[in-house]
Amino acid sequence: MSRPPLKEPPGKGKFSAFSLILTERCPWHCGYCYQRRGTRVLEGKILDKACAAVFPFLSASSVIQFYGGEPLLAFDLVRRAVLRLEKENRSSRKRLRYVLTTNGALLSPEILSFLNERRFELMLSFDGLAQEKERQKGSFRILSSLLDDLPRYPGIKPATNSVFGPRTVGLLSKSIAYIAERKIPNMLLSFDYQVEWRKRSLDRLSHELRSVRKYFLRLPRARRTMPLINFRHPAASGVFGCSAGRDRLALAPDGRLWGCYFYADFFRVHPTADVARRFCFGTVGDFLRSAGDLDKNVLVQYARGRMDWAETSERACGNCPYLDRCAFCPPAASLKSGKIGMIPVAVCRINRILIKQRELFWAQAAERGT
Ligand code: SF4
Ligand code: SF4
Repeated sequence: MSRPPLKEPPGKGKFSAFSLILTERCPWHCGYCYQRRGTRVLEGKILDKACAAVFPFLSASSVIQFYGGEPLLAFDLVRRAVLRLEKENRSSRKRLRYVLTTNGALLSPEILSFLNERRFELMLSFDGLAQEKERQKGSFRILSSLLDDLPRYPGIKPATNSVFGPRTVGLLSKSIAYIAERKIPNMLLSFDYQVEWRKRSLDRLSHELRSVRKYFLRLPRARRTMPLINFRHPAASGVFGCSAGRDRLALAPDGRLWGCYFYADFFRVHPTADVARRFCFGTVGDFLRSAGDLDKNVLVQYARGRMDWAETSERACGNCPYLDRCAFCPPAASLKSGKIGMIPVAVCRINRILIKQRELFWAQAAERGT
């Protein structure tokens, strides 16, 4: 397979996103969760040191993302990082946007008030009507009343991530409608890539996404501000390239830095010396010693996270007619295979189904003249 040459990776980073993986702990046991549960929690001193070390390399407008496990098990660290970054930012006045990914169970009025004041984006893991098929029993009621409550916190920008697999795909369209009716501005549809998707499940997915398309076509609002991220026009044209390490960094609970929180997750699933050697940037101390100059050998590995470097067992993505419309997170797509760049055939088929329904949506919206 011939692959395009890689550009020289940048040396010193200017990062527009910095993720803090606060803990490996989570009180829930969702059926499709790929994370390897652990007990580590980021040490407060390492968090302070990392915020001070990385802050000078953040762009004028940057996202600070809080992630876990369940990050609200370490809410004191969320508050500590925000206060620390605000202190660093006193003279620079960068625009910092905060995002918290959570299952929502621990959101107390005190936490919601803090998130509201700091205008957090709240990414809630919520599967709609499929919630209790794979996630915690009793959690549907918690999440749906939380969504009903959120308008009382106008500073919080809510978003949802809904995960479907072969066992729950039949509930996809009704779940998306259920969440959209609560006026959530950003909704993400994700899929369980760790299980087999047989033809029957893929056919069901096509059927469900057809229903999603028809649902949004009936909503004039959706044609102007499509809430379903997967149905939006791609942000950039051309071949997708992952920006891990290039414009983002992540700090893991063991104090090591990665190009993105997804690579830290990938390492937790495949904890080999080879994965660490290829994708880990070392400790915060290493980052400080090199004055933010990231290891070029590691950056080269990240630079390969492009669609024209990927393949399935059936074809090279570089020869695929969908190449410029297909985008995959390399570590997410490779969780099962353990080989970055090797996309499972079912994952490829899921994406083609999605692309087809997205393009049909916009073609039909244009025909309707909106
Ligand atoms: S549709 Fe499949 S083969 Fe084509 S670019 Fe996407 S993953 Fe690769
Ligand atoms: S594609 Fe995946 S690994 Fe790359 S930056 Fe996005 S989430 Fe991170």
